[in-house]
Amino acid sequence: MSLNLILMGLPGAGKGTQAEYIVKKYPVPHISTGDMFRAAIAGKTALGLKAKEFTDKGNLVPDEVTNGIVKERLSKDDTEDGYLLDGYPRTLEQADALEKMTKELGKELNAVLYIDVDPSVLTKRLTARYICKNCGATYNKLYHNPKVEGTCDVCGGHEFYQRADDKPEAVQNRLKVNTKMNTPLISYYKQRNLLYDVDGDRAITEVWKDVDKILGSL
Ligand code: AMP
Repeated sequence: MSLNLILMGLPGAGKGTQAEYIVKKYPVPHISTGDMFRAAIAGKTALGLKAKEFTDKGNLVPDEVTNGIVKERLSKDDTEDGYLLDGYPRTLEQADALEKMTKELGKELNAVLYIDVDPSVLTKRLTARYICKNCGATYNKLYHNPKVEGTCDVCGGHEFYQRADDKPEAVQNRLKVNTKMNTPLISYYKQRNLLYDVDGDRAITEVWKDVDKILGSL
């Protein structure tokens, strides 16, 4: 059976980390709309220019733009055995669009994993996040610094930056926007019997054990 998955959780809940573990073990590509927008912005493409004014303020990129890039991505052959959506859908309109496009593509969802962490914990985590300028590897001042100070573990780069949307003002706005958006989505997938709730306020390996168990049971 295919593993057609959504990974949900507020920004900073650990979706990215769990996604890395999942794609290491299971044959599914990690599809993060946030990463796709950041790549487009870095490459100064037409999509990037459209997205930047929204992402910089922590606001959502309009649905028609976002649904379009996801549909294009899910149409590719590397999603035949499954896919892992991260950061999408964020609205009920996106969820409906996803249901429609996955039906058309014969790639309907099997599970939605919700990594559950309290917003007060997330504010601390997000503002402590920083990224390698060269390869995009993510670090955190609180619990995940490079092994050698100032040198990226992945590529050896020495320059780091903080995402514009990880700055304190934008973080507050993102959490507010996302909390409001998450609630109806959670009900939406609960109703469809697709939702799996995972306690994300624990060590990364503990969270992963639960995630792996769920995926193994599908
Ligand atoms: P993320 O890395 O998932 O927090 O996404 C970073 C930014 O990209 C968000 O704050 C939004 O501006 C934009 N973005 C990512 N995914 C979506 C989505 N599904 N719908 C609208 N905007 C999105």
